[in-house]
Order: sequence, then structure tokens, then C-alpha cells
Amino acid sequence: MKSISATQPDRKKLLIIVLFQNLGEDHPYYAQSPAPPLPGILLAALTPDIVDIEVLHEMVRPINYQTDADFIALSFMDYLSPHAYDVAARFRAMGKVVVGGGKFASTFPDEVQPHFDAILVGEAQEVWPHMVLDMVNGTLKPRYEASASPSLDTIPPPRYDLVESVYTTPVVTEATRGCPHPCTYCQLNIKRMPFRQRPVADVLRDLSATQCLPWYKRKMAMLLDNNLGGDLAYARELLHGIAALKLWGLGAQFSIECLRDEKFVEALAEANCRMAFIGMESLEPKSLAAVKKRQNNVEEYREAFDRLHRRGILTFTGYMFALDEDTTEYYNRLPRLLEEVGTTVILPSIAIPLYGTPLHQQVVDEGRLVDRDLSHYEGDHIVFRHKHLTDEQIHEAYARVTMGFYSWRNIFGRWAKFMKKQEKHGSWRNHLLKLFILTFIYVKLSIFQRHHGLVKIKGGY
Ligand code: SF4
Repeated sequence: MKSISATQPDRKKLLIIVLFQNLGEDHPYYAQSPAPPLPGILLAALTPDIVDIEVLHEMVRPINYQTDADFIALSFMDYLSPHAYDVAARFRAMGKVVVGGGKFASTFPDEVQPHFDAILVGEAQEVWPHMVLDMVNGTLKPRYEASASPSLDTIPPPRYDLVESVYTTPVVTEATRGCPHPCTYCQLNIKRMPFRQRPVADVLRDLSATQCLPWYKRKMAMLLDNNLGGDLAYARELLHGIAALKLWGLGAQFSIECLRDEKFVEALAEANCRMAFIGMESLEPKSLAAVKKRQNNVEEYREAFDRLHRRGILTFTGYMFALDEDTTEYYNRLPRLLEEVGTTVILPSIAIPLYGTPLHQQVVDEGRLVDRDLSHYEGDHIVFRHKHLTDEQIHEAYARVTMGFYSWRNIFGRWAKFMKKQEKHGSWRNHLLKLFILTFIYVKLSIFQRHHGLVKIKGGY
């Protein structure tokens, strides 16, 4: 990328903004997420050294409209598109050059393009450097399209030096892209791409390219893959490499059937994985079948979660309300079912028929889509008519189950149960460090989810 050079002598500035929706607080735009999203610092890393760069995560600080940047790049998800159009219009009115990209812009370029000076369609790694050069040279074209499945072999380490200091875990990267499963609500199934892996050495290099950070921030890392376990042999090899880095804690995301592989679980433990994000989604088999979540077997949950807990890995599980086969009787049993499967933390949300997904097509075909305001597609609104339940029944269950799960009593009770399962292996120092890290992650996630429940679910929206 250094070979690309600008023809203009004055160095310009690029501001990359990763948009986020505030949680309706008095101090908007502040979320207590411990780790930044990947797109902003990855885009910064892919930027040729012909501009100055700043990365702004809206989840931790407000947009600075007084910026001295010449170029603005906006990264946003589906539900943020109306917000992205407002932000782009405001900057363009000030004479800034504004470009956009991300999954939504890549899926619906014709809708997005009129709001920007240029958009990037597809993955950024091969196209973005040329786009920046054209920005600097004043020869920007309206649309830049990446090839269908570009190589992942030349991706540089994310720019951790540009992450806001408020993040406790700035070291984030990805090892894979894609997922082999057909879940009908998943954005990966809008336009299916092959499952791809980055070279193991590149991922290990990313996790070590952290000298710019204070020492205590180099010890924790997150792999932000959609499904690290899409290729288990690869995942095990990577985790063996990560074990040698002796991190204090690693977070990873994968689908639940990976836990049938005992060697994968062992490799997670060896790598000091302390948090696994897993899409549990439902405890009702018929609802799972309705969204083609075939890899999830409810009968296996309890045992699979316990296997992780005993190895010092807490389970952070996605859970969806308003799946098609949910009933009020099931929602009444849900608090007990959640307690029985024993997951440590849940991320509850209402099912979202994202534009372009098979689920979206289904609810449109069945005449059940009732709300087309994309800003409501964030997981707290009901945007389609349910087959059996009223909106009130869904909201009541969403609020009751979430707030019950995150009552102080239950938060403390789950922590105590989880701690009891932790056996001491090796030195007291390592054991105490493990307990401390686990408690830190557990408390941080639980308080964040409780807060979300109070502000967005119970408090209304
Ligand atoms: S397992 Fe997860 S990442 Fe894979 S398709 Fe299903 S929802 Fe998407």
C-alpha cells in the first residue's frame, strides 16, 4: 500500500466514523462496550500513508462536526442507515467529501449511493486504498466494487493506536469470514460467500501488534468472527498458536455444535478463552427449526455450556424473542428453562427480519411486515406480525424474562454457581488471575445487559 502515492503536496485528513445508536440515555452515544468494533480500525490499517487518520466510534463519543478532516468515511449497519444519511448530509453541506460502506451499502448500493459522494460495495481490502488515492487526487468515482470473494491473505493488523482509551479491550481482530450454516435471519445469508480463513500467522501477528498500547491492555483480546468454528481443524491450530501468546483472556464466537468437538473445547481452554459468544437463540425446538437453525440441539445446551464453564469459559448467549413458533405458555416456562440450561449471560433481542435475508422475504411473502422504518430494526422493536402472539404479549415476555434474568439476586446467584465450578490447575497466581478476569467479564456484561433492559426494554423506546 505504500506504493500508492498522492499527486497533491498538502496532506489531507480522513475521519473514519463507526456509527452507533445511543441507548436513549441522558448522555447519548455512550455505551459501555469493553471492545471496539473492527471495521473502523481495520479500514484505518488499510489506508495508504497519504492522509492523516482519526477513528471515531460513536458508541463512546459524539460525532465532532467541527472536525478539520477533509474526508469522512461512514461505516454503518442496516438499522443505522437513516442516521447515516443524516450524518452524511450534514457533513456534505459543510463541503466535506463523504464516503460510505458496510454490509448494508454492499447489499443495497442503489439505495445508499445517492446519500454519499462515493460508496464501497463489498469487502474493503483490495478496493479501499485506490478509493483513498482518488479522494486525495480529487478523482473520486461514485461507486467502487470489490471482487466477489477477495483474498484475506494481505490484511494488515488493525490500528489499535487509534482506539479510544475508554475501551478496556482494544485488541480485536478476525480469523475467518462467513459461516457454513443457513439460519434464515442472518445477514450472512443475504448473499452467501464461501467460508474463508486468514493465515494463522497473520492472526497471531495481529494479536501481538500491540506495542502501542499500555501493557495491561495487551493481555486481553477478542476474535470477532461470525463463526470461528466454521473449520474446526483451522480453529484448533489457531488456538494452539494463541495459547503460546499467554493472554490473560480471549473472547471468541462460534456456533454451538462446535462444542461436540472435545479437542476444540480443550484448545479454547489452553488459549485462555474466558468468554464464548454462542447463538443459542431459543429453547423451543420448533422455533429453531422455523429459522433453519439446524445445528442447535436444545437437548445438548446444558451439557455443552457446563463443559465450557468447568474449563473457565463463561457463556454469553444470543437469545431471540418473537420467533414464529413461540407461545405464551413457552414464555411462561422460559425463566426456568434458562436457569436449567445454565448459561451465564444472555443477549436478548426481538427477531429482526433484516432486509435481504430469507426471513425478510418470508414475512413479506406472508404479508406480515408492518414496519419498514429501518431505525427500528435494532432488536428492541417488533416490525412484523407474529403468527400466534400480539405485540403486547411479546413485549411483556421480553421485559419480564430479561429483567428477571438480570435481577441483582440472579446476577449474583449465577456468578456464585459459576465460581464454584472453577477448579485450580497450576499456580495460585494463575488461578486467582482467572477468577478475577472471569468476574470482571461477567460483571461488565451483566451490568451492560441489565442497563439495556432497564433503558430500552422496560423503559420503552
Ligand atoms: S450460525 Fe450464526 S453466523 Fe452462522 S449463519 Fe447462523 S446466525 Fe449466521
